[in-house]
Amino acid sequence: MEKIVVLTGAGISAENGLGTFRDEEGLWAQHRIEDVATPEGFAANPQLVHDFYNARRAQAVEASPNAAHQALARLEAEFSGEVLIVTQNVDNLHEAAGSKAVVHMHGALSGALCAACDHRWPAPLVMAPNDPCPACNQPATRPDIVWFGEMPYGMEAIWDQLRAADLFVAIGTSGNVYPAAAFVQDAARYGADTVELNLEPSATISDFADARFGKASDVVSAWVEEVLAQ
Ligand code: NAD
Repeated sequence: MEKIVVLTGAGISAENGLGTFRDEEGLWAQHRIEDVATPEGFAANPQLVHDFYNARRAQAVEASPNAAHQALARLEAEFSGEVLIVTQNVDNLHEAAGSKAVVHMHGALSGALCAACDHRWPAPLVMAPNDPCPACNQPATRPDIVWFGEMPYGMEAIWDQLRAADLFVAIGTSGNVYPAAAFVQDAARYGADTVELNLEPSATISDFADARFGKASDVVSAWVEEVLAQ
């Protein structure tokens, strides 16, 4: 086995108190997705959207990686082949744990993007609608987050990696958000073995050859031990 592609979702960071998408009490539950996670929502009320992501950024900078993030960093460091993490998460907990090959397909809270000229720069802790872009000076700054209806980042490279993968592992993702939810089928079609590690079966569980259920900090650590022992 030479190449492992790992897809992570909100569940891997849930034990850090960051809240998953469908948590009943999380930040997400207090807002409609259309209001805070679409270009139309941002156009209608940029202050509300900045407030939402400012709150999430404040939470994320306080969070530390858990045993699951750490186990994946160890896998990358000790596995004889290649390990790539494709994350839907907008926190930086994989990097904080030491993972190097990480693709943020949905962007990151740590980034700012100019909607006028596409310039990117590190986000300040608190962003506001009238913050000028450092490159073009337009008051068009937004979080560098991929919203619903927008194209995720790095898709061509991700599909190339899925086609070349020997093993595809999905961790803490509900299988409801596309195109990530289809990665298991993409990888399996090209011959990869597939494993789901999740608290409970995802919407795409029937596409996986194997699965382990439990908290990410338990199941991911145990699975990494197994892979490294092979
Ligand atoms: P989701 O909320 O739809 O699903 C979370 C999954 O994690 C569920 O399958 C749930 O059973 C599982 N889970 C919950 N607690 C877990 C635990 N302790 N251990 C293991 N699994 C656990 O999340 P998603 O599939 O990532 O979906 C969607 C979107 O939500 C993404 O676009 C992502 O950008 C966004 N999001 C990101 C964060 C973050 O960056 N931390 C947080 C919330 C939402």
